[in-house]
Amino acid sequence: MDPSPLFYQAGPALPEVSHAKGVYLWDETGRQYLDGCSGAISCNLGHGRNDIREAMLAQLDRVAFTYRTQFENAPAVALAKALVGFTQQQLEKVFFVSSGSEAVESALKLARQYFVARGEPQRRRFVSLRPSYHGSTLGALGVTGYQPLEAPFRDIAIGSLKVAGPDFYRHDDTDDGRHVARVLADTRAAIEAAGPDTIAAFVLEPVGGASTGARKLDRSYLAGIRALCDEFGCLLILDEVLTGIGRTGTWFAYQHYGVTPDLLSTAKGLGAGYYPVGAVLSRADIVETVMASGGFQHGHTYAGNPLACATGLAVVEAIEREKILDNVAARGRQLAAGLEALKARFPWVGDVRGLGLLWGVELVADAASKAPFPAEQNRFARITVLAREEGLLIYPRRTLDGIAGDHFLITPPLTIDAADTAELLTRLERAMQRFDREVP
Ligand code: PMP
Repeated sequence: MDPSPLFYQAGPALPEVSHAKGVYLWDETGRQYLDGCSGAISCNLGHGRNDIREAMLAQLDRVAFTYRTQFENAPAVALAKALVGFTQQQLEKVFFVSSGSEAVESALKLARQYFVARGEPQRRRFVSLRPSYHGSTLGALGVTGYQPLEAPFRDIAIGSLKVAGPDFYRHDDTDDGRHVARVLADTRAAIEAAGPDTIAAFVLEPVGGASTGARKLDRSYLAGIRALCDEFGCLLILDEVLTGIGRTGTWFAYQHYGVTPDLLSTAKGLGAGYYPVGAVLSRADIVETVMASGGFQHGHTYAGNPLACATGLAVVEAIEREKILDNVAARGRQLAAGLEALKARFPWVGDVRGLGLLWGVELVADAASKAPFPAEQNRFARITVLAREEGLLIYPRRTLDGIAGDHFLITPPLTIDAADTAELLTRLERAMQRFDREVP
C-alpha cells in the first residue's frame, strides 16, 4: 500500500479490508477475521445484509436527503414511533442525530435549555462517572471521565463533576449493599458540596463500554441515582449509545434495572454500521417546555434525513422480525460460560463481566491483589494483536484512571449463531494460550 494521507491514531499499519459477510471480514490478502466486536460495537446485525441493502436502495430511489425544516419524512416518523414504543411510551419525543457524540451533546443541551426555559439558569453543570466515555465533541468530552482524552482540552471543554461509580470487581463487600451505599453517600456529598441547584443532569452509561470494560451498574445503585436526581431536581440522562438497540438483550439496557431516565442517547447499533444514525429520546414535558420557549436551539444538517431513518427502521424491523433479542440472551449465556471457563484457566484473567452480548475481560498482573499490569507493558494491545493473528477482532482499552487496567470487549454482532460463538471462543482461547506463554 502507498503511504496513506489518512491520519488517526498512531499504531501499526492496518490490513486493507476487502469485503465482509455475516460475522466475518476478509482483507485484501484473503485473510479472514471473525468480527468479535462488531467494528466499534456498531455492526450489530453483521455485515452484508440484503434486507438492509434493499431498504436503503428503495429509499435512495425515492429520495436520499431532505432537510428537517422543509419536509416531514415517513421513515423518520416511523422510526421515532418505533423507538418510543421500545420505551413503552415512557420517553415520548425523539430528536435524530448522526452519531453518539451528537446524541450525548444534544441531550446535554436539551437538559440545559429546559432549565433555562423553566427560569432556573443556574442549573448549568453536569455530573458524570470516572471512568466513562461519552463522546468526542467538546460537550460530550466535558462529561467524559477518561484522562488521556480529556487532558488536552480540559480548560476549554464544559467540565463536569466527576464521581466514582460502583466497582463490583475491586470491592468484595457488595453482597450486603455496603459498597453501593458508600458510593451513593460519596456522590451525594460531592453534589451537596458543588451545590445541588447548580446541577442540570446526571449522565451515565448503564453498562460501561470501552472506558470500563463493560462494568455493570446495578439496580440499587441506579435506583439511588434516580432518587438523588429527583431529590435534587436534576435530570437523569442515560448514555445508551453503545448499550441501546438490543446490545444487552433488551431494547435499552435501563430496562434490566427498573429505572427510567428523563433523557436517553443512542446511536451505534441504530444504523448498525450501514449508515450513521443516532437519537435522543426525551420525556415529553421536557421537549414541550423547550419548544414553548422558542424551540430547541440546536441542530445538525444530516439529522433525521430519509436515508438515515430508512436504514434505522430496517434495522429495528429486522431485530423484531428475527427475534434477535432472544438470540442475544441465548448467545450471551453461551459467551459468558465460555469466558468464565477461560477465566478459570488463565490466572491473569481477573474479571469477566457483562450483559447480553456486551462482555468485558479484565487482565491483571496478580489475581489475588487484582493489581493491573504495568502500563508500559501495553498488554491490552498485545492481546489484540494475538487475537487478530488468530483471526479474531476484539475491542481493547486501557483505563488510566487508577481504577481498572487492561481490558478488552467481546461484542459480536447480535445475530451471531451458536457455531460462530463457539468459533469466537476457540480463536480467543488460542490467542490467550499464546499470551499465557508471554506472561512472566
Ligand atoms: N457514548 C458512548 C457510551 C460510546 O461508547 C460512544 C462511542 N464509543 C459515544 C458516546 C460516542 O459515539 P460516536 O463515536 O458515534 O460519536
